[in-house]
Amino acid sequence: GKNYLMIPGPTAVPPSVLEAISRPMFGHRTEEFAAMYKRIVEKLQVVFQTKNDIFVLTQTGTGGMETAIANTVSPGDKVLALVTGNFGERFAKLARIYGGEVDELKFEWGSCVDVKQVEEKLSANRYKVVLATQNETSTGVLNDIEAIGKLVAKTPALLLVDGVSGVGGIEIKVDQWNVDILVTASQKAMMLPPGLAMVSVSPKAWAVIDKNTSPRFYFSLPACKGKIDSWNTPYTPGVSLYVGLDAALEIMMNEGMDNVYARHKLLAEATRAAARALGLKLLAEDAWASPVVTGIYSPEGMGADDIRKIAKKEFAVTFAGGQGKLKGKAFRIAHMGFADRMDVIIAIGALEMALKKAGHAMELGTGLKAAQEVLMGGS
Ligand code: PMP
Repeated sequence: GKNYLMIPGPTAVPPSVLEAISRPMFGHRTEEFAAMYKRIVEKLQVVFQTKNDIFVLTQTGTGGMETAIANTVSPGDKVLALVTGNFGERFAKLARIYGGEVDELKFEWGSCVDVKQVEEKLSANRYKVVLATQNETSTGVLNDIEAIGKLVAKTPALLLVDGVSGVGGIEIKVDQWNVDILVTASQKAMMLPPGLAMVSVSPKAWAVIDKNTSPRFYFSLPACKGKIDSWNTPYTPGVSLYVGLDAALEIMMNEGMDNVYARHKLLAEATRAAARALGLKLLAEDAWASPVVTGIYSPEGMGADDIRKIAKKEFAVTFAGGQGKLKGKAFRIAHMGFADRMDVIIAIGALEMALKKAGHAMELGTGLKAAQEVLMGGS
């Protein structure tokens, strides 16, 4: 039967990308691969809004995060981690594993980074690296990377940004916002299966990387740098996924990045309007709500996983559960990548029926109407 995947990765893959990744295999030490890698990086520079080096790595998002940490954090280095949820915690943990002395600035789950507190930390300490999450997937919170970047740029510290779930769905300006290393991955807003990480590296970051003393082999950025001049990779890349990435970026370039970002905003707005109309509480305030994933509390006394189970079993719609301290209390609806207005209608339609079956008092169609009104306003 037909399944509707509405989780924040892996997400639906467009037909032209599926076709691309199933093409016959070819060697990576070829002109064909080099031309493709060059094309991919040029398009990624548009998405990242940067002139910095960009590497496509055969790793997951976490691999990309480890690459960023392993190449910049040497034992004993002071690190400031801005933590707004599960993935902020992961970034901090990685820095600790590589010997970093990590100060964690923690914010309530559902809140964003308070930039004022970052400013205070930066003026009282001298950090080597600052870690931030662009889009905190566990809560559906968008952090203000521009404001954080402005502060970090005034210090010798590098700004490392986990853009795994945001890039491709939420605008990021790597050069203008002073992002030293941006990490993203294939399986979310980039519309690909899991398996690739994409990482940009600023000149300020290279100066630190060159002096780094942490052991690295597969995660070595200098090893990648040594190969990129001939548009190659140190080890065998996931060739088929690169072919898919080329195709996915083509779709994005054709739609135009401004349209891509506007589409995601509209879908988030419609999802939020529907949740509110159904009497549900949202995790994030409007001011910092994620355009790509919406976190919603389940109604009082009702388990979020029970609602999810009904949606999956009866309607073949998969929502994501709450993570960490939100497990069982909240669920998440993703609207990222290859998602459009009718996906929101499916998600909300299924949500209403699942809520009704679980005993939530509301009238069917209430959420749909609210979503439709927002979606028509944008048409
Ligand atoms: N960071 C963020 C913000 C994410 O959403 C995810 C995946 N949910 C990751 C990192 C980890 O990526 P992966 O599972 O591909 O290793």
